[in-house]
Amino acid sequence: MQVARDIPTLRAAVAEARDARLRVGLVPTMGALHTGHLSLVNEALKATEYVVVSIFVNPTQFGPGEDFASYPRTEENDLAACQDVGVDLVFIPASEQMYPTPPVTTIRVAELTDTLCGPHRPGHFDGVATVVAKLFNLAQPDVAFFGRKDAQQLAVIRRMVFDLNLPVEVVGCPTVRESDGLALSSRNMRLAPDERKRARALHDGLAAARDLLNAGERDCATLIAKIRSIALTAAPTSIDYISAVDPDTLRPVTQVTGPVLFALAARFGSTRLIDNVLVEP
Ligand code: AMP
Repeated sequence: MQVARDIPTLRAAVAEARDARLRVGLVPTMGALHTGHLSLVNEALKATEYVVVSIFVNPTQFGPGEDFASYPRTEENDLAACQDVGVDLVFIPASEQMYPTPPVTTIRVAELTDTLCGPHRPGHFDGVATVVAKLFNLAQPDVAFFGRKDAQQLAVIRRMVFDLNLPVEVVGCPTVRESDGLALSSRNMRLAPDERKRARALHDGLAAARDLLNAGERDCATLIAKIRSIALTAAPTSIDYISAVDPDTLRPVTQVTGPVLFALAARFGSTRLIDNVLVEP
């Protein structure tokens, strides 16, 4: 496995792979890799012939007061995990490689970022869209893999690729969960033991809404109320939102007639967790 810490090394390696007519897959991450990330890598290993994992805690997607400084960084473990599963190249740039001078160019995907996490994390998705566009230009993947756990991020990236005609196929991968249903997240390790135990109620609420919908309930206010009543048993510090939206446009859904995404964000102290379920009645 090759490790590229600078852009020329990445570009040279990818150029060689492309010259050899290998199909290039990219898995963008911020590191602190867990089984969820590795499920994306496994999808990439199945679908492509040269797999690049990027590890970059992107400063521009963190707002002031968010956890950029304290975000978990576990480089040695991450490289070992990538090596174990058979990744071809890890791109792990320092901030100065990605942003040699403060950037004045930003990609903003409007509308889809005005909802769900958008209002609670101003500028976050601009940072995400911009860094993903940069990674696409640098790694030139044929296919890029994203988790459905970050459903809004996935919708935003898909729309950016569509609007800008980027020559990348975007693949969304299923959410990997702990045995009690909590979605794997690099931030889970920051929950206190009792918070960790209670946090399962977030997914319990989403699962209850899915079951209720499958039993015939179509009114989203009722379904959201069900999620809220169960999520509150987790006793989070606060709930940013619980919403029912169209999975592609992220516009609110009031009566279920097609696929619907139930999504929520809740805080336990300074740790913010998100989760969602997609239901296709
Ligand atoms: P992050 O390092 O948090 O930026 O995540 C990198 C990628 O891994 C994103 O596409 C996430 O959606 C995906 N991911 C994170 N957690 C999970 C999970 N539990 N299951 C599936 N994919 C995940």
